[in-house]
Amino acid sequence: MTIAEKEIKKFETSNCDQDKVFYQAMEEVIYSIGPLLESDEKYTRYAILERLVVPDRIIKFKVVWLDDNQNIMVNTGYRVQFNNALGPYKGGLRFHPTVNEGILKFLGFEQILKNALTGLPIGGGKGGSDFNPKGKSDFEVMKFCSAFMTELHKYIGPRMDIPAGDIGVGSREIGYLFGEYKKITSTYEGVLTGKPYMFGGSFMRPEATGYGVVYFTETMLEIENQESLEGKICTVSGAGNVALHVIEKLLEIGAIPVTCSDSTGTIYDARGVDLALLKELKLEKRLSLEGYKLSHPEAEFMPAYEYLEDRHAVWDIPCYAAFPCATQNELSEMDAQNLISNGCVSVSEGANMPSTPDAIAAFLSHKICFAPAKAANAGGVAVSEFEMSQNASMTKWSFEKVDEKLKETMQQICTRVALTAKDYGVEGNYVDGSNIAGFKRVADAMIAEGI
Ligand code: NDP
Repeated sequence: MTIAEKEIKKFETSNCDQDKVFYQAMEEVIYSIGPLLESDEKYTRYAILERLVVPDRIIKFKVVWLDDNQNIMVNTGYRVQFNNALGPYKGGLRFHPTVNEGILKFLGFEQILKNALTGLPIGGGKGGSDFNPKGKSDFEVMKFCSAFMTELHKYIGPRMDIPAGDIGVGSREIGYLFGEYKKITSTYEGVLTGKPYMFGGSFMRPEATGYGVVYFTETMLEIENQESLEGKICTVSGAGNVALHVIEKLLEIGAIPVTCSDSTGTIYDARGVDLALLKELKLEKRLSLEGYKLSHPEAEFMPAYEYLEDRHAVWDIPCYAAFPCATQNELSEMDAQNLISNGCVSVSEGANMPSTPDAIAAFLSHKICFAPAKAANAGGVAVSEFEMSQNASMTKWSFEKVDEKLKETMQQICTRVALTAKDYGVEGNYVDGSNIAGFKRVADAMIAEGI
């Protein structure tokens, strides 16, 4: 039995229903780092895996608020402070009805390695609530955010834990959360990132994750195939912060993104999606994508309910490069097979863990250039760290400076991942390259800091 197999066995009992996605993420990492564990016994001697897979603490609290009809509403809030070996806990807040402890543990665990890959001084954490902002008025969202921060403020701080956005948490929610933190603590400090620019936000934080995914993909394609995305057909899933900015950057560099999707269905517009219309529908009006057809009757709308759980319309469309940017496990093995047989060359994960393990195995065995989330979507957290730096030094960087540093960071991550994969005998495998490079950085810090 290999060391990786022995380590996996230790955690099998924790594979309860809620923890399934967490276990999925953990198993991938443990198998990936097998060669590192075999080559250096210190990681086993210092029990790094046992220590890394258990969060430092999980804070769980009740959030009580009043809706617009004066009904008392009750939700659950969480903050998972996972690991701070490299810096203060850092990771987003997700507001979505599916949020539970298991999902946040998976996201927090991934965040540790993602943050390590950036080379910046940030640890890993994640949080959120089962609150659904969809269909709520601005006042209701404000009241929920105030109630959520009433409890959360006790556990966060600019040197302790700095949350940001994720699904359901954009600059509106971050603004309300920041306002409440400021009121409670009477301090004006960089305790959250993703703030609107007018009060402490960085240029480019909204764009950072999506733009970063495209910068990473361009670098990976250059290294692996000496090709670029210019003039290539691309498919994108999702229609939120990450997806819209992937589409924006693809259009800017001359690629042709032809799809996007939301929880109601998929749009396929063969001439390239209309970004201005998408922003109006999803960001300004917060409507379903179905409305896209009113302005573009020639585009196709494929309703989500017509598809089985393990099939997604986006991945039926032939493309050169695919960008899953909606949510976890949204790209199944069957979707992967479709992409491969339709000639797809590259897959880059904008969302966290959007591809199932079987889908990833299919991509790797067919030598598809596959960019895993923890490397490809690290641009968001990198610019969050730039926001922390600007807040701490009371300065503002220009758009050009942030963009340049983001591009440089994504190119460095990509090169580091490619070289690590080569060093450990798995050239071209960016999954193993990312896991080994991220794990090594955190593990070495944990060893140096003692128990
Ligand atoms: P948003 O809330 O802005 O958008 C999410 C999009 O995905 C929406 O179009 C939403 O549809 C769709 N979606 C969400 N859940 C489901 C579901 N269960 N089934 C079908 N569609 C769904 O979130 P983000 O764009 O910020 O985040 C997307 C992904 O990227 C997540 O995995 C997140 O963790 C990851 N990520 C985000 C970062 C960021 O900076 N924002 C940083 C790194 C990773 P609808 O509009 O109908 O709700």
